[in-house]
Amino acid sequence: MALAKWVAADLRRIGQISIAVKKEGVFSLAHREDAARNDLTAYAHAEDAAEIARFDDAGKYRPLKTAPNLRHGWRLIVRDLAGLRLALDLFYPGRLAAFLAWENAMLKTTSLRQTLSRQTGMYRTATRIRDEEADALVGNFCRSDGGCLRTILWKRDENGTIASTQLPTEKFDPQHDQTGVGAPVVPLLCQEACNLLVAQARKIVHEGGDISPKCP
Ligand code: SF4
Repeated sequence: MALAKWVAADLRRIGQISIAVKKEGVFSLAHREDAARNDLTAYAHAEDAAEIARFDDAGKYRPLKTAPNLRHGWRLIVRDLAGLRLALDLFYPGRLAAFLAWENAMLKTTSLRQTLSRQTGMYRTATRIRDEEADALVGNFCRSDGGCLRTILWKRDENGTIASTQLPTEKFDPQHDQTGVGAPVVPLLCQEACNLLVAQARKIVHEGGDISPKCP
């Protein structure tokens, strides 16, 4: 099983979560910045991950689960590998599957222009975003420090234009720890623009040049 292989290979960090291996088959998850704390609130069911991931430290809803605002103060114990997989899928939906597909050279990416052209209804107008606006939007909205911890694999268009010239090269490197700590990680891969980015593109088209959103 891929997850067991990753854990055995010391890939025990994903996004802002650290995974400690306890006695045979038992795993302890915590916020990476809390790994040394002993005053954490204990959770004992993998399903609790959904509740932990819902709100940030200030109690604000987290619409983007890969935003770098996972709340602190908890420890989640899961009893087996299936529980670990479920918990990680609730913290970071779809990201284990994306990494496995990427490892097997099976992960398909979609350019931003393709994603925008697929939009219907009120989001259809997002296609009208100009290249320089898209460059600035992605550079701000997707950035790892305050925006999103995913590694961008998609391009801006079918010509292979970089998603944003305003992001560091590490933002596109699956080997890089997007938290900036520099540890081996299971990367949170982004194979196509999310609906929150599309919504921001539409907003820019309608309002003209507002690229201010941070940490969605
Ligand atoms: S498009 Fe990808 S990298 Fe950007 S905010 Fe959405 S999920 Fe994160």
